[in-house]
Formats: sequence, C-alpha cells, structure tokens
Amino acid sequence: MKIVDIRERAIPLQSSLRNAVFDFSEMTTSVVAVITDVLRDGKPVTGYAFNSTGRYACGAQMRDRFIPRILKAKPESLLNAAGDNFDPEKILAAMMQREKPGGHTERSVAIGTIEVACWDAVAKIDGKPLHRVLAERYNEGRVIDKVPCYVGGGWYEPGKGIPELLDEIREKLDQGYDVMKIKVGGATVAEDIARVEAALKVVRSSRHLAVDANAGFNRERALAYARALAPYQLKWFEEPTDPLGYALLGEFIAQYGAAVGTGENLFSTQDVENLVTFGGMRAGVDFIQTDVPQSYGIVQFSRTLAMLERRGWSRQSIFPHGGNQMTLHLVGGFGLGGCEAYPGVFGIFAGFADDARVENGFLKLPERPGIGFEAQNQLYAAMKALAA
Ligand code: MG
Repeated sequence: MKIVDIRERAIPLQSSLRNAVFDFSEMTTSVVAVITDVLRDGKPVTGYAFNSTGRYACGAQMRDRFIPRILKAKPESLLNAAGDNFDPEKILAAMMQREKPGGHTERSVAIGTIEVACWDAVAKIDGKPLHRVLAERYNEGRVIDKVPCYVGGGWYEPGKGIPELLDEIREKLDQGYDVMKIKVGGATVAEDIARVEAALKVVRSSRHLAVDANAGFNRERALAYARALAPYQLKWFEEPTDPLGYALLGEFIAQYGAAVGTGENLFSTQDVENLVTFGGMRAGVDFIQTDVPQSYGIVQFSRTLAMLERRGWSRQSIFPHGGNQMTLHLVGGFGLGGCEAYPGVFGIFAGFADDARVENGFLKLPERPGIGFEAQNQLYAAMKALAA
C-alpha cells in the first residue's frame, strides 16, 4: 500500500471582488491530488484538496520539497499501526524533515494542502465521510449530522450601495442562512456605520450580524471603528488589526469590549498560542478562525486545539476560516462552533456539494466517503483532470 504520485496545479480564481485591503484579480489556488495504489470499486483511491481561500498557489514548495519527501519515504513508514491505511501524522512528519523551526508561512499552506488531501484518501479507504473519521479520532466518536453555518458577504463592488447590500442580505436569508458577515473598512467610518445600521434592520438581531475588516486598519482607524461599532454588540468584529500586532489588538479589544474574531492569517500553533497569551483575546467571548489547510493541516490543528483547550478555550469558540467542504468536515468532526460560507464568491472553490442546502442556519454533513468533492461538479472536474 503506497502513495504512487502527488500532483498539483495552480488554478486562477477569476474574481472581481475587493475587500477593505486588496482585490482578488490575480488570486490563484493550488489543487492537489494524492494518488494511491489502493483500489476501491476497481479504481485507485485518490485524495484531493485545495489551499482554501485568499493565499496564492504554492506549487513550487510542493514540487521542490514536500512531494519528493513523501514519495521518497519507505511506503510502510507512512502507514498506521495496523498497516491498513495511511497515517497523516507520519506523512506530516515526512514533509517536515530538514525544515527549520519557526517562520511558518513559507511552507504551512503547501504542507497543509497536501496533508488534507491525504485525509481525503484515508477517509475514502475507510469508506467513511471525513467528519466521521475525525469524530472517531478527535471527538470521542461524537458524530453529528449538521453544523451551524453563517454566510460571509457584503463585499465592496463598483456601483454597490446600501440598497444592493440589503438585497444581498435578504437573498442570503432567503437561502436559509441566519447569520451574515459583511465587510467594513473599505469606506469611511460614517459610511460603514450606515451600512451596519441598514443591515441590522434586515437580520434578526445584532447577534446575527458580524463585520470583517480584513486586518487593514492602522491604530487610528482601528480605535475609531472600535468606538463607533461597540454599541451594536455584533456577533463578532473580525480581524480589526494584524493578529500578530498583539499590543494594538489588545488595545482594540479593550476599547471595543464586544466579541472579536481573528486567526485566518495565523499559520502555526505557536502563533495561535501567542495570540491568546499576548493579544488580549478572551476565552468564552472571542472567536478563533484559523484556516486549517493553510496552517499545516488537520493533525497540526488537533495540536492547536489541545493547546487552546488547556487554556480554557471551548471548541464552540472556533469557527475555522474557509467556506468549503474541507472546513465543513472539520467543524463536524471536531465539534467546533460553526463554519462559514460564501456562495458564488470564489468561483469553483466556494461552497459545498452542489445540492447542499442551508436550513435555519444549519448545513447537513455529507455522507459520501472522503471530503466529497465529487459532489461539486466543476471543482471535481478540475481535480480529476489532475489525476488523469
Ligand atoms: Mg475574514
């Protein structure tokens, strides 16, 4: 039993969107296929993943270091104790050989994407959906059938004013979502307050509206938004500042008072530990939003989670970044707070199974073996072409 090949390809996102900080016109994503010699239904099992959202393709690192290390390893050294499946922890260790400690971003996305593709293969070999495999390994076998799912949107687009924003929110509520997140920081404080106040008239309550500044504020703007938005007690204020700027983040949180969410731009367990130690983040109030395929993958996420739980954080406070099927399985498997969605926003990489429907703010977990990209027609076509 062995991994016979690992292939990657960069695929352009082709998005015209802009958040508070940058546009997505050049954005690409790495798609990975891990091809094994294990047969299921007469065909070799192949695991797939992509590098989530908002970080560029990273094929060079994969091709130069991580793929060759896995393919060079003795096949039996990558298997579990029973020898009947691959062991992602050992595959992660193989990729980390001869890597200097610290300085994670140069490799964490490449490694995490390959690691998650390996999990897709592991779950397919087990004949189980990934969330079930993860629940058995990491959540005392507590398999659940649906998870809370909120919707991100409210992007800035040319010609988009408050009426268009409200149309967008109403459309999402009609689709079954009950919590909406909108961007802030791409306009003046006064304009953004007007957007928030208008949005609050459409959603059920302030607990059903979050805002996201994409870490774009300097100190002056951050504190101005903290003062202006504090009275609304929104579900959370996402990424007011760079999450590694602990002093400013702590100052923001002290000024703002209500819940903050951050972490999608942290790439290691140590980064998250520093955030909750020095950044003013409060267990039971704030939210952690790491992106698992971008931060070394699922095994490393389990270590981050253990660290957070030791420090009094609950799984319910973790809403991983990335509105995709990888995140959906993680949220279900680990029993986390919920997942995000941004339907129709990031091309073929956005969303879940083509027939997935959100009901009263919940999304059903897929029952197909693996991650289930097969149920996302356009994405799967791109993935399958890699393995052909
Ligand atoms: Mg965000």
